[in-house]
Amino acid sequence: MHSMAIKSLLITILISVITTNTHAESPRYSWQVSELARSAVEKIRLRNDQDRLLKTISAKQMVYLYAAMSSMSEASEIQAELLIVDGKLANAFAATTEENHHFIAINFALLDIVATDMDMAAALIGHELAHLKLNHGEINKKNITLNHGKDFSAANTRYSRDNERDADYLGAIWAVEAGYDADGAVALQEELYKLSKNINASSFNVSHPSSIERITVLKSLARRLQK
Ligand SMILES: [Zn+2]
Repeated sequence: MHSMAIKSLLITILISVITTNTHAESPRYSWQVSELARSAVEKIRLRNDQDRLLKTISAKQMVYLYAAMSSMSEASEIQAELLIVDGKLANAFAATTEENHHFIAINFALLDIVATDMDMAAALIGHELAHLKLNHGEINKKNITLNHGKDFSAANTRYSRDNERDADYLGAIWAVEAGYDADGAVALQEELYKLSKNINASSFNVSHPSSIERITVLKSLARRLQK
């Protein structure tokens, strides 16, 4: 046995918080990247509570992600725990617990897209950190309260176009500040846009709509940031 036993955190912590798109595929398991990055073996087998193998990931990828998360935390001045969650439809989200602990979660499918492209990872982390910094979740929380605590409908949990644009913008600036290439944000959106054409392949697009317009805006921003 070369696999390291890393137990999944109970996902209840995430269920009790405001996530940004629980109407999409809900993750059941989560693992802390800070812990995965310390793995003594290269291939980490992620298992569910019945010991069924869910995914094998690379420790190297976790080390890279942890490093990107640390430098993006510094640039954004936001402390958040980076989690890997299960899920077949590419997705990421930011959440805050009632005790004000911030989380960013990247699911299996999106993890495969990002692979070890750290410019892309920095853009993704930056975007989600920006949702936290700009309290976009708080706005959703208020919407939900106004709707008498009904379950999260798409309308409640989808960020507005303005929220998305602001998160892209701030995330890209922090990524450049942290030493990453702003083109990572463009590359990420291009990948997600490709997926958006297949409705079954991504739920990230439900909460974070991808479009040619968004890609164009990011390209122009990346050009300006690289001057
Ligand atoms: Zn977003």
